[in-house]
Amino acid sequence: MAIKIEKKITGYNVVKPEDKVAAAPVTAAAPKEAPTAEVIQMHESVERPETLVGSTFKIKSPLFEHALYVTINDIVLNAGTKYEQRRPFEIFINSKNMDHFQWIVALTRILSAVFRKGGDVAFIVEELKAVFDPRGGYFKAGGIYMPSIVAEIGGVIEQHMKNIGLIHDPEMDEATRKLIAEKRAAYEALGAKKNSEVSATAAAPGEAASSETLTFPAGSMMCDKCNTKALVLMDNCQTCLNCGYSKCG
Ligand SMILES: [Zn+2]
Repeated sequence: MAIKIEKKITGYNVVKPEDKVAAAPVTAAAPKEAPTAEVIQMHESVERPETLVGSTFKIKSPLFEHALYVTINDIVLNAGTKYEQRRPFEIFINSKNMDHFQWIVALTRILSAVFRKGGDVAFIVEELKAVFDPRGGYFKAGGIYMPSIVAEIGGVIEQHMKNIGLIHDPEMDEATRKLIAEKRAAYEALGAKKNSEVSATAAAPGEAASSETLTFPAGSMMCDKCNTKALVLMDNCQTCLNCGYSKCG
């Protein structure tokens, strides 16, 4: 059905399929349950409560003299209902280092504004993580490459969004997980045969499932797919022990 718009458009909302489903029973005859209050979605007119819950992350980068402290505060919408949802509401970045003060303030204000606009805010993670410092990036513990300090702020926001359940890791299928564990075991067995001195930091094959504490064999190369130093050469085949990427040749 076409609707002619005669007034000025002053705002809009994207209606998702689940919203339609939720709205449908209103017109249906005799709904069994009492009608529930309207579900509040994140919107710029949502007022900030007096108190917000949040997390503070510490970023230590060789590009910065002092640590950065990133605080992300969340708002809980529809608390106590099945629509309860925790969403980031504002971000603050603090540091002793004043050299970068102006762009940090600008970044936090814009990010906070994006959070409050609502909708899908996960895109900013990818945008920030794609920022490269022309002076070069640095490696974090575990061999993860950070192309810039902005990218690391993006990484922190990503971690926070995972913590509050807003975004999820792409599920690694069981076959890939198994393959990585096998490759890793084979690689370590190979190394043990060559010289009995296996890297002390290498985790046992059984522990390969947790990616947080995972370290990779010394001398691993950079994997272009997951930006982690986890690429090892086995039987003329480059295999990533982090994401399972494999290239032969
Ligand atoms: Zn990889």
